[in-house]
Amino acid sequence: MSEETIFSKIIRKEIPSDMLYQDELVTAFRDITPQAPSHILIIPNKVIATVDDVTTDDELTLGRMFTVAAKIARDEGISDDGYRLIVNCKDHGGQEVYHIHMHLLGGRPLGAMVKR
Ligand code: 5GP
Repeated sequence: MSEETIFSKIIRKEIPSDMLYQDELVTAFRDITPQAPSHILIIPNKVIATVDDVTTDDELTLGRMFTVAAKIARDEGISDDGYRLIVNCKDHGGQEVYHIHMHLLGGRPLGAMVKR
C-alpha cells in the first residue's frame, strides 16, 4: 500500500488548489510552480506512487489521464499549437511527489525535451 502525499489532500479538497477537473478516477489542478503558461497536473485519485508501481488494473485510470489531458489542453486553447505531457519516475526521472502525476505543459515553445 503506497503512502499518501499532499496530492491526496488536494483530491479530497482538504487543502486548496486550482482544480480544473475531477471524476471518479482522476483529478486535475494547476501546478503551484508553473513552468509554462499552462502547467497542469493530472493525477489518479488512487495513490500509485510511481510508474514502476503501475499494474494492469490501472489501465483504465491511466487512459483516463490522457483523455482528460487532451480535454484540458483544448479548454486551455493550446491544442492547435501543441503541448507536452511528462511523467517523471523516481530519482533520476526527477520525481518529487510520490503519487503518479502527468504534467501538461504548453502555451509557449518548450524547447528540447531533456538537458543535454
Ligand atoms: P515532480 O517533480 O514530482 O514530477 O512534480 C511535482 C510537481 O508538483 C511540481 O511541479 C510541483 O510544483 C507540484 N506541487 C508540489 N506540491 C504542490 C501543491 O501543494 N500544490 C500544487 N498545485 N502543486 C504542487
